[in-house]
Amino acid sequence: MANPDGIAYPRAFWNKNVSPQKACPGVALDRNFDVAWNFTKLISSCSQHYPGFMPFSERETQAIRRIFHYHHHKIIAYINVHGNGFDEKTFKGEAVLYPKGYTEFQEDDDQYIDLKGEIDEAIRNASFRLMAVTVDTLYSWYGIICGASVDYASTVFGVPFSLEFVMQPYSAVFNYNAYQNEVAYDSLNAIWGRIIRAVFQYIWDSSRYIEKRRLSKLIRHPRKFQFRKHNRSKKISYISAIVGNKSDQDYMSVTEISRIIGLWTQVGCGESNDKYDNYTLFRIYPTEESQFEIIKLLQTSNNSIEVLKKSRGYNDSTDVLVPPDRLQSFEELAKENNFNYDLKNQYGRSFESPERAPRRRVLRGFNIYEYHSFAAIQEYIETMASKHPELIKLQTLGSSYQGRKMKLVKISQNPHAGNPIIFVDAGIHAREWVAPAMALYLIHRLVMDPEARKRELRGVDWYVLPVVNPDGYEFTRSSKTNRLWRKTRSKSPVSNCYGVDGNRNYGYQWAVSGVSKNPCDMETYAGHKPFSEPETQMVRDVMLSNADRIKLYVSLHAYGQYLVYPWGYTAEFLPKQWRKLDSLARKVSQAVQSAGGQPFKVMSAGQWYPAAGGSDDFAFGAAHVPYSYTMELTDGYEFVFPESRLRSTLPQLYEGFRAFASEIRNEFSNKRLRDHAS
Ligand SMILES: [Zn+2]
Repeated sequence: MANPDGIAYPRAFWNKNVSPQKACPGVALDRNFDVAWNFTKLISSCSQHYPGFMPFSERETQAIRRIFHYHHHKIIAYINVHGNGFDEKTFKGEAVLYPKGYTEFQEDDDQYIDLKGEIDEAIRNASFRLMAVTVDTLYSWYGIICGASVDYASTVFGVPFSLEFVMQPYSAVFNYNAYQNEVAYDSLNAIWGRIIRAVFQYIWDSSRYIEKRRLSKLIRHPRKFQFRKHNRSKKISYISAIVGNKSDQDYMSVTEISRIIGLWTQVGCGESNDKYDNYTLFRIYPTEESQFEIIKLLQTSNNSIEVLKKSRGYNDSTDVLVPPDRLQSFEELAKENNFNYDLKNQYGRSFESPERAPRRRVLRGFNIYEYHSFAAIQEYIETMASKHPELIKLQTLGSSYQGRKMKLVKISQNPHAGNPIIFVDAGIHAREWVAPAMALYLIHRLVMDPEARKRELRGVDWYVLPVVNPDGYEFTRSSKTNRLWRKTRSKSPVSNCYGVDGNRNYGYQWAVSGVSKNPCDMETYAGHKPFSEPETQMVRDVMLSNADRIKLYVSLHAYGQYLVYPWGYTAEFLPKQWRKLDSLARKVSQAVQSAGGQPFKVMSAGQWYPAAGGSDDFAFGAAHVPYSYTMELTDGYEFVFPESRLRSTLPQLYEGFRAFASEIRNEFSNKRLRDHAS
């Protein structure tokens, strides 16, 4: 009983203890632990959520802390049991909750996802009346909560299983007619009997893997940390060494310790706006085969290091973002393996502040050389369509997962002529802001430039979908911490993670290579089935319903300045038409270079790292679009291409589209048009 005073206190609905505070007595003990403890918001001591005036201000939480402090190396599970007040209106049922509660940003915790599977399995066959069991994160259940003991055990001490049980006390239900007692009985025995058995069995079964898992999370270097054999919990013993310098009663704040050893990501409660501020970008230029192998290992073994781009050839950089607690060991690794690299410190500090754009837009109208919100983009294309009805038709394709209307911009001087179509989409990857910017610039030039009407629009129609993944796009604009989000924002049906890599979700040779099957993978999760995402379904439908007329498909991405063609799913062979694909790409690259831009590196998409389920393979393989490309725009700025450079770069890239148009017209328009235009 962690809160005996509170239980003895004669007040209904009392959550806190009763220690004297300024206005009202009591601290919410499960908000008083030093993990993202809430010091930014002033919550009155009269609130049932009052977190105390400092972490561990209370004797009760100190007592629990002491247990962790002395016994953490032996603790494999911490279970925090709560009851849930019954109220028919807010009834949520039973729950097993796991970290984290202090941030929406969840890492992939395989053991909890597996555990959820076990619990689901255990209760599947039980016959209940109105009960439901949720297995999810603290955040999903409560929203942001700060200073919770379950987060403390997990984040600070690395306790492998840290869980909150929320039990529904049906026995307290009044007037719950005849089967009240039966319900209470079922709750305790049928549900919790099963859950507890499943949880304990799973913990027991995985205990032999736990040591391995703990080790894999270590910041380690063989010469620096010589771990003794038979020491069950090596990481934890390192913490103890630091703690031992101080007196037991008044030891260094755990936040401080964990900052030193890097267990904890310096994310404050609910505010995590600076995640990347102290990250370091490494651009590694591999020069030999073995280095590629090491880079590959890096990606798979460690999910705190983010690989932004992979090399497509020798001396083409692999770009890696390294968190501050990994910096030293990563640099050592780089030196040991003779990596040729350069680096950029405090990476996140160069990120755009997303709040600027809307304000400026109000003052100056839509500037094509800026990054805009999805709403502003929609407004822009609607305004363009209403000003130029003779040229632009908008087709509503449907809604994104979160309900954003997606509109295809169709530009044609003669929509009924049956012209070949160039279909351009952009922004399937949320963070690649320059891609939607380019798509909008394309619309802008095609419509506003009188020369373009004579050239690019002659005998060719253009379909442009400027933001394929609007939910993800808006998410990257919501804070600097979310700036590097790539996937969609759909909720996984099988885990608590969000998003699918749209460009691994297309249904041609789906998931045969280069994808993750883990919904929590931040980069390349292929979805639980092809076209699981409404966004990719919409692009598919555009392709299939216009398959006879689309002669060129270009998917705009960032970054690396590559122009790649099918196949993406394999490096084993090329399509038999590859020479045509290759030669058109080189003409486009030449045109961009002639305009002062960087030439593209031209190759097949899968040559260096095969990845299946891309839109370019689907267009080429399933919709039989004869020319299909993925265009990776810009190089040298990763995903944060500076807004100030759009003005010079977008027009250079436009010249590539001009070259595309002229080739497509020459090959596919009828002869009369071909003779007129050149
Ligand atoms: Zn991309």
